Amino acid sequence: MRVIGTAGHVDHGKSTLVEALTGTHPDRLKEEREREMTIDLGFAWLTLPNGEDVGIVDVPGHRDFIENMLAGVGGIDAALFVIAADEGVMPQTREHLAILDLLQVQGGVIALTKVDLVEDEDWLSLVEDDVRQVVAGTVLGEAPIIRVSARKNIGLETLLNALGANLEEKPPRLDVGRPRLPVDRVFTISGFGTVVTGTLMDGCLRVGEEVEILPRGLKGRVRGLQTHKKKEDVAIPGSRTAANITSVTVDQIRRGDVVAHPKDYSTTARMDVHFHLLPDSSQPVRHNTQVKLFIGASEVVSRLRLLGRDELKPGETGWLQLELSEPVVAVRSDRYILRRPSPGETLGGGSVVDPHPKGRHRRFSKDILARLEALAQGTPADIMMQALVAIGAGPWKDVIARSNLNHAQVEAALDELRSTGALIVLDGASDGGVIQNESLVTSKGYWEQLSKRALQELEQYHQVNPLRRGMPREELKSRLKVPPRLFATLISRLVASNQLHETGPIVSVYGYEIRFDPEQQKMVQSLLARFATSGFSPPSVKECQSDVGEGVYSALIDLGLLVQVSPEVVFSRDLYDRMVADILDLFKTQDTLSAAQVRDYFNTSRRYVLALLEHLDSIGLTVREGDVRRHRN
Ligand code: GDP
Repeated sequence: MRVIGTAGHVDHGKSTLVEALTGTHPDRLKEEREREMTIDLGFAWLTLPNGEDVGIVDVPGHRDFIENMLAGVGGIDAALFVIAADEGVMPQTREHLAILDLLQVQGGVIALTKVDLVEDEDWLSLVEDDVRQVVAGTVLGEAPIIRVSARKNIGLETLLNALGANLEEKPPRLDVGRPRLPVDRVFTISGFGTVVTGTLMDGCLRVGEEVEILPRGLKGRVRGLQTHKKKEDVAIPGSRTAANITSVTVDQIRRGDVVAHPKDYSTTARMDVHFHLLPDSSQPVRHNTQVKLFIGASEVVSRLRLLGRDELKPGETGWLQLELSEPVVAVRSDRYILRRPSPGETLGGGSVVDPHPKGRHRRFSKDILARLEALAQGTPADIMMQALVAIGAGPWKDVIARSNLNHAQVEAALDELRSTGALIVLDGASDGGVIQNESLVTSKGYWEQLSKRALQELEQYHQVNPLRRGMPREELKSRLKVPPRLFATLISRLVASNQLHETGPIVSVYGYEIRFDPEQQKMVQSLLARFATSGFSPPSVKECQSDVGEGVYSALIDLGLLVQVSPEVVFSRDLYDRMVADILDLFKTQDTLSAAQVRDYFNTSRRYVLALLEHLDSIGLTVREGDVRRHRN
């Protein structure tokens, strides 16, 4: 079901024409709703000569005309552009045309209304010529001009045929499986509760589904759907839709909010856009100008940052970064309009190039401008690559969401990027290598950089701490500032490719070893000699530390040359191994051992024996029962 939107100067006959075409006067919709208890979708319906049912959004000619028009015009398939034959092109005619053009509404039909008021054929031709000139080069450049009179029933049939022909040429609306309904009206119907209306985009909405209302993230459920006055179970993209939503009240939803599946969209308060300043604009646009942004059905006060230029002159195009005062839902390629707040004037508009830029751009960065250019011009693979670069590493579904491509484009782009190695699937793919929504993906560039950073951090650590075996894993993770899943994948891949070594909680550059300088080497040797001669009564921890220094001491522990069993007691590796082996031997002939038995066996002091036995308890080799130990199997 497609939607036609009317536009044109106030009093040029839009409402009268809609009534003549549909039998419904737009102003009467409200009464009708109250009388018939049907949901008012804010527009009228008509059946074209070819049998197709279409909806017409007619925007009332009130004070906020333009801004109202903007809320309604976003999702339309074709324009019915109205110009009164007696007055011809007027200022609002131009402004509406500019808006249709900026929003890239895909063509339509021009109705030259009130022809009954003009008897002079020459005048009509003159007006037509004028109209042709004004629309030349815009989205209505090729639109047929149909002379009509709603009063005298002239040309209405021809107009309907022309609208039918125009719609026939159009492809179906994009369905990327991520429905979003920008809310243009919200009201209650007694017995039903909250109802929102809008033109559904990008996917289907189904009765019973859970939905999220953004930007606030309220949760609700679709209780009922209605399109074209009929109840439906499924609303398809492009259709004018009324959704009855449970669990939210009318005052919790505003025009401009977006109804979507939970987690499908994230809001944004900053975006990079391509911008065209209208040639009729009264003045240039400068950096830091405050503007009103119209996108979807929302209107948000924003500040524009002009990139790469000091000012834009009327008729010029450029790149902007918009800073929004409130978050909105927007995806790549969404069209938008900017207006000056007061006096109200449409400045221009264009399309969203990056709805989630990383941060504030430096205004004259060549890299940024080149990236924006690539995003705006790019093939699906370029666009996906940009999304990947922006994300760094993340679940595949985030890349899809950010790219905003359709299924076929996603498949093609993925094949291309995987085959060239530009995209790497890190984990979570199925056995056959098929990528899943939750698969962790990254770009080759990001991955190489991250690997390099990890190894550099370790190299540095080794340099600063030559006496340590390596860095605690957790410390590396927090230095790299990456989430746990990505970090785990990074470590296991670096280990698998022999770039990194992992022992317990310690990681080091592959091949790194603690090395003592000659002086340290000497101290180490004399300490080890002390151990060799002291038998079962080795020097204490404190003595060792004062002999060789704390750093060398802990390196000896790390290297396993010394084994510290308590805060005071340390043994050489040889002695420790021998004592443990002897104790295990003793357990072969007896079930329990007392501290005194062990002391007598080794002929050493109680201090050492107690420390050793407690240590053996703590590593789970023995278990203490009263005064004796038992071997724990
Ligand atoms: P809108 O503001 O564009 O919706 O204009 P309206 O539909 O309200 O029409 C404005 C005025 O023009 C009304 O007084 C209409 O009766 C009159 N009008 C609209 N269409 C025709 C027409 O075909 N012929 C004549 N003579 N008057 C018309």
